[in-house]
Order: sequence, then structure tokens, then C-alpha cells
Amino acid sequence: MDRIASFCINHDTLVPGVYVSRIDGDITTYDLRFIKPNTPPYLPNPTMHTIEHLFATYVRNSALKDKVVYFGPMGCRTGFYFLIKDTDEKTALQLIKNTIKECMEHEGEIPGSTAVECGNYLEHDPKDAKDKLLWYYGIIKDLTTEDLKYPL
Ligand SMILES: [Zn+2]
Repeated sequence: MDRIASFCINHDTLVPGVYVSRIDGDITTYDLRFIKPNTPPYLPNPTMHTIEHLFATYVRNSALKDKVVYFGPMGCRTGFYFLIKDTDEKTALQLIKNTIKECMEHEGEIPGSTAVECGNYLEHDPKDAKDKLLWYYGIIKDLTTEDLKYPL
């Protein structure tokens, strides 16, 4: 079998940030990397789950909601993938920054955290999610489109 594109990037040189992972036609996949690969501790699953619910909710309520394709966690627990269509990199990066900020400022109930709405509704950690989002926002807030290329 072919080695898929996301396994071909050098995970040794990758640091937390935002990257263009791949482009498929009009859909761009962004790599929201929170953790330097292979350097534990990784994001705990309850933390990732809370960030997933918050980001998906805020981005799907944004002005660009009709362009949003998907947001979800990486199995390695070092970050998330965000897929958006028909949107230039500058606009997408600003959307990511705005959404991360909204998520870190979120107060109260986590959206979609009832048994009918979610497959594991008790597994959340709003406190740690806020801490990680605050930290990550500090990493990404001044990034420009120049920073979206994976390091060699
Ligand atoms: Zn859920």
C-alpha cells in the first residue's frame, strides 16, 4: 500500500502551530498541532473531547459556517484536523484564531454534552480544555500564512 501524505511529513521537526496538511480540490485540511509529536504528555481524551465539541459548535455558528466540512481529533492526541472548503488561507487562519479564542472564553455547559447528543457524554474536562486552549492561543495568535507550511 502507499504511505499516505500525512505520514510523510517529518514529525521530528514539527512544533505546535497551524499547518496546511493537504489540499483536495476546493477543500483544505488544516493541522492544528497542540503537542510536539512524540513528546508526552499528550492531550488527555476528555480534554480533546471538550475542545472538539466547543470548536465544532463555534465554527459551525461562524460567518463561514457553510464552508466548514469537518473538525476532529487526531488519534495520536497531539492535535486536530479542520477541513474547510472554498476559503483562502488568510481567511481560514483568522477563523481558526477567532474560534480558538471563543472556545477558551466559553463559560458554562459544554454544547452537545448529553447522552442523546454524544457517544461518551460524561467524558469531558472543561477546566483542562480551557487551560490548553489558552496556551494554544498564545502559540497561534500572531501566526501568518507564511507559518502554515510544515517544517522540512
Ligand atoms: Zn461527544
